[in-house]
Amino acid sequence: MNILVLNCGSSSVKFQIIATDMEMIGSNTDQRLARGNLERIGGEAIVSLQANGRAASLSTAALRDTRAAVEMILRWACSDEGPEQITSVADIHAVGHRVVHGGEHFKHSVKIDDEVLRAIEDCIELAPLHNPTNIKGIQAARDVFGSGLPQVAVFDTAFHQTLPEHAYLYAIPYQLYRRYRIRRYGFHGTSHRYVAYRYRQLQKIAREETNVITIHLGNGCSIAGIRSGNSQDTSMGLTPLEGLVMGTRSGDIDPAIIDFICVKEGLSSHEVETLLNKQSGLLGISGLTNDMRELLAEERENNDRRAHLAIEVFCYRVRKYIGSYLAAIGGADAVIFTGGIGENSPEVRSRICSGLQWIGLSLDEEKNSLAQKGFEGKVSNDDSRLAAYVIPTDEELLIARDTVRCVMGVEQRF
Ligand code: AMP
Repeated sequence: MNILVLNCGSSSVKFQIIATDMEMIGSNTDQRLARGNLERIGGEAIVSLQANGRAASLSTAALRDTRAAVEMILRWACSDEGPEQITSVADIHAVGHRVVHGGEHFKHSVKIDDEVLRAIEDCIELAPLHNPTNIKGIQAARDVFGSGLPQVAVFDTAFHQTLPEHAYLYAIPYQLYRRYRIRRYGFHGTSHRYVAYRYRQLQKIAREETNVITIHLGNGCSIAGIRSGNSQDTSMGLTPLEGLVMGTRSGDIDPAIIDFICVKEGLSSHEVETLLNKQSGLLGISGLTNDMRELLAEERENNDRRAHLAIEVFCYRVRKYIGSYLAAIGGADAVIFTGGIGENSPEVRSRICSGLQWIGLSLDEEKNSLAQKGFEGKVSNDDSRLAAYVIPTDEELLIARDTVRCVMGVEQRF
């Protein structure tokens, strides 16, 4: 089956077309046919498109909305520039959507019907920026492909629905949870789930034997404690603002800071929330950039004090979380690094792990320094009590596979 995987944001649509079916999933022979990114939708959009084995193209196009973007993807896919496996709309067999918030309702990926769409709408309150754009993507695909084409929703939150009550409840009046469902949901679930799954494939172990800490470090960052294959705790909360230091997000802060800033800076609480989401994290501390690669270069080449500080705070926070998750989930066999920083920066991995010798984590510095750009495998010494792995994430592949499973009515393996 050829699956169109859509990740619809407020002004962007990222997509991949992946050929997969139950047999290909079993033999790991899924095939990526095409990928692309349409940004600045609503005006003159920037469009990058690439079919497998062909040169990438970069162009601009006037795209009014998400529907126009999906139409353009389909037109391109069926054209001579698109993948050779797609010649008409009939060659797309299903659409898989990344949906940010599934609330407590969705514990697995689901085939979308009107009832599911309504339940996703019910979660808008929990993700006012993301779920409406995801819904627009679903409606756009329905308009473009017709209501007969199966569509599947894969939720960022679903994998973390196994968190026990004591991990997901905040210590605020319980009626606020009952009334408004204020609790920890966690995000990046598809990424944590994928790398945990790859780890057990590499180790040739069963799901129930998978005890790991997965660390997704990209522009957004989160960590998950996984015991017996299930997410037991994770650092993002009601929203993706909590937890680790991120590109522009603060992660954990004392909640009293919000009112303090409101008073001192004359800002509304909404404005402070924006400040914590968009002007904090690596960008906020360094005053330079949210880009880890640039910060490392500033530190190395210009000895920039605040770039150094931002990286130190970032690494310290991750190390602190690893220690607390080891305690929280009763130990682990491995930590797994993924995401743009986790996959590509030996230096950040080394700085995070440098304080973890006490738990028996000894990084193989040579292996670690070579582990970049698509490397998958172990980067710790063989006698390390706690192993360290680098596993590139592949959320699109998991979305495509879940889409096939949902369409075929096969049980999803988490
Ligand atoms: P993502 O959101 O997963 O695409 O990750 C984006 C982050 O990964 C940015 O902060 C990039 O600077 C960072 N990144 C990508 N490549 C490298 C690298 N080679 N070294 C350090 N950071 C990197």
